[in-house]
Amino acid sequence: MVAQSNIVVDGSALWLDLMETAKFGGTPKGGICRLALSEEDARVREWFTRTCEALGCVVSYDSMGNQFARRAGEEDGLAPIMIGSHLDTQPTGGKFDGILGVMGGIAVLRALRDAGLTTRHPIEIVNWTNEEGARFTPPMLASGVFGGVFTQEFAQSRTDRAGVKLGEALDKIGYIGEETCGAHPAAAYFELHIEQGPVLEAEKRTIGVVQGVQGMRWYSVTVKGHDAHAGTTPMTMRSDALWAAARMIDEVHQVAMDHAPDGLGTVGIIECLPSSSNVVPGEVSFTVDLRHPSDAILEKMEREFRQRMERLASLCGVEMEITPTWVSAAVHFDPLCVECVRDSAHALGYSMRDIVSGAGHDAVYVAKVAPTAMIFVPCWKGISHNEAESAEPEDAKAGANVLLHAVLVADARLDA
Ligand SMILES: [Zn+2]
Repeated sequence: MVAQSNIVVDGSALWLDLMETAKFGGTPKGGICRLALSEEDARVREWFTRTCEALGCVVSYDSMGNQFARRAGEEDGLAPIMIGSHLDTQPTGGKFDGILGVMGGIAVLRALRDAGLTTRHPIEIVNWTNEEGARFTPPMLASGVFGGVFTQEFAQSRTDRAGVKLGEALDKIGYIGEETCGAHPAAAYFELHIEQGPVLEAEKRTIGVVQGVQGMRWYSVTVKGHDAHAGTTPMTMRSDALWAAARMIDEVHQVAMDHAPDGLGTVGIIECLPSSSNVVPGEVSFTVDLRHPSDAILEKMEREFRQRMERLASLCGVEMEITPTWVSAAVHFDPLCVECVRDSAHALGYSMRDIVSGAGHDAVYVAKVAPTAMIFVPCWKGISHNEAESAEPEDAKAGANVLLHAVLVADARLDA
């Protein structure tokens, strides 16, 4: 059911907004350097306020500097349907990561105004503070406070490399609002984002209906053998930590391949001691990153990974220890909101597929307090966090159209 399928966003205005705001922190290579709460961030925030006010919104911000542009609804006492993402970037970031979600929201506002349409729910466009985690770690800090994952005290005390606290940086650009972060109600939350991966482009599909975010588990593996002379120690009398580690790393790959295509396994760092060309290595440590959209299968992958590591340790005559270093459970978006996205993409006739996000987003934390869904559009070669990040105007427009209609469908279905 899409009641207003004749309404569409203005794709050229959306593209113009993307190109216009790319000037705040624009780099010679065509990317953006707009670190959270920097001068450039302050300027794009002013642009956001100005633009949304011109579209009839009231703009406010909370105690974490999250900006909310509110368009009144017919039943203005209802909690708002939120649309958002972030306007901060990596130091060598692109023009689309995060920005498309906010500009897509503005495109929705414009389409509603041009159609003379008032929704039942108020609509709010949100710009979340410090999503990237490039200046203040961890990432998604302000949406994390909003979702109750971090305390405000923790978030505001994070420091950048120069020793400046996030709270001080917020104060400096005048963005510590009176409203406590998290006190803001939300009936639903929709985030449009570039995929940041290569799947949609490779399959020539326009819309990714995001089901959630995959679970992730990190480990550190230490393998201990014995340092020995490479020329005098017979092969049968060695305890070679690197040889054992090499076979283990191959098994990490196999565990993921056994759960293809959703299972992922990566060894990204390897350290070898003593690192001398004529010494049999006595100690090797490496990192393991396992991912899967299902926590149950991820649990199974962990069991298989542990078993295979232990089997190889005994086969190769080495000691082995696995230390878990990080766990992030899988996130499943709200079924009703996901249906709003799917039905809208279908009604608009776009090619689509279900997809699971491989990266973190503000939506992950907002999902803890509000029914949430995301929309992905393709980006060039899946490249992101890079000045070369690129997306097609047609895809940006398609994503914003799905966003618009998902909001309209949600407006009809929620609290109905
Ligand atoms: Zn992002």
